[in-house]
Amino acid sequence: MAIREIRVEGDPCLNKVCRVVDKFDERLHQLLDDMKDTLVKAQGVGLAAPQVGILKRVFVIDTPDKGMVEFINPEIVKTEGSYTDVEGCLSLPGKAGMVERPMKTTVKAFDRNGVEFEYTGEELYSKCICHENDHLDGVLYASKVVEWMDPEEE
Ligand code: ZN
Repeated sequence: MAIREIRVEGDPCLNKVCRVVDKFDERLHQLLDDMKDTLVKAQGVGLAAPQVGILKRVFVIDTPDKGMVEFINPEIVKTEGSYTDVEGCLSLPGKAGMVERPMKTTVKAFDRNGVEFEYTGEELYSKCICHENDHLDGVLYASKVVEWMDPEEE
């Protein structure tokens, strides 16, 4: 178990386009295990590899109903509808803002063994997929905020 340092706004890793994973090896598994430990410790919902300084197309999402899911080389294949909800990010501590996201998002990705799967998430899960996927293209939710929340009310 290893906790990796979460990079915060201003770190150049957060603005880079990440590379496709081509080796589903021990190093990838170590990265995934560390990201999961880091996410749990930070009590977050999602974490993308560039947030720990690794420019690879990998993210993990942890929700009470689905548990921890690993997404490698994700690709959003379909979106439906839209809804606006509050978002935050471990790389932008103390901030929160309203962002419009699809109501439903279907993503194709690979698991740690290189097996492809498809998953459709709704509302919270749809929002998480889109938020984490944006990280892999160097995009932070801050650039999509329609209204910032007052931190006093958090
Ligand atoms: Zn984030």
